[in-house]
Amino acid sequence: MGIVVCICGNVFGGEKIFSAEELYTKDLHQNLNTNLEMIHNEYPDFTELKSIGASIKGKDIKALKIGTGEKSILINGAHHGREMMTAVLCTQQAKELADKYAEDEVIRRKLDTVSVWFVPLTNPDGVLKALTTYPSWKANAGGVDLNRNYPTKGAKRTVFRPSSKEYHGPQPFSEPETIAIRDFCYEQNFETAIAYHSAGEMVYWWFYQQGECLDKSRSIAKKISSATGYRLVPIAESKGGYGFTDWFIAEFNKPAFTLEIGKTCNGLPLGFWEYKNIWKKNRNIPMLIVEEMIKVNQIQLIEPVIDTNILLPEMTTSSSIEAEVLD
Ligand SMILES: [Zn+2]
Repeated sequence: MGIVVCICGNVFGGEKIFSAEELYTKDLHQNLNTNLEMIHNEYPDFTELKSIGASIKGKDIKALKIGTGEKSILINGAHHGREMMTAVLCTQQAKELADKYAEDEVIRRKLDTVSVWFVPLTNPDGVLKALTTYPSWKANAGGVDLNRNYPTKGAKRTVFRPSSKEYHGPQPFSEPETIAIRDFCYEQNFETAIAYHSAGEMVYWWFYQQGECLDKSRSIAKKISSATGYRLVPIAESKGGYGFTDWFIAEFNKPAFTLEIGKTCNGLPLGFWEYKNIWKKNRNIPMLIVEEMIKVNQIQLIEPVIDTNILLPEMTTSSSIEAEVLD
């Protein structure tokens, strides 16, 4: 039960999940996974929990789905070791979304149309290294920067051997963590994807998409920017060709976004003091993205589920009458 704690006071309402004290400890991976299991155990009817792969050192990479919608979006955190706060954010978003699903019929209908898959912790080994011995570490356990390990055009290569950051690896998708994300994207055919990073309070949203995809991307990016207050990175500054988001846009010709949380840019994990503000700015992002995808892709909402409790007594009566007739 040691894992059941809370962030910044009682931000989860009745349920407590993380604690400031426990956030930046070597147990973060285990704590997050336990919390994902708790959410799934609390709401088994409309959540799904699965492992999508494992890190170099064999740590499980978990994905949690909220809602039953066949269409879905991906929200992903912690490609980079020192950016572990993004993993906490995604896990708390998952918990809040599950609570809302349970309470609110309108939200339930939307999430049963477009569900949300969370992969809070993509790089468990890198996060552990940053938490224990090397605070500025971004790469995975093999010294490959996972967000340089996707095939993206125009990416400048600056580091040519394993390093704490920016080494792209021997070839694209050479790492088990990026393979897990890639295969999960192919399997689920997401409508869009969010990748959380830190820091700088920015939204990256463009990577050479044109036409309809460009229009959708711009419109959603503006909504994200006004919800969070994060600056939209202009097209002229978006030609770097780095990472998951650029790969997703190019590979699927669909919108995808990198959200950089946090103000402090000192090459170290964000101080916990920033979390309260980050949570406030990002807590509604999952629902905002679901609603925007429903809108821009003109997705028909599923019909509301009929309450079977109302029908059951009649059905019981008629079948018992039949039984009497048959006798
Ligand atoms: Zn990053």
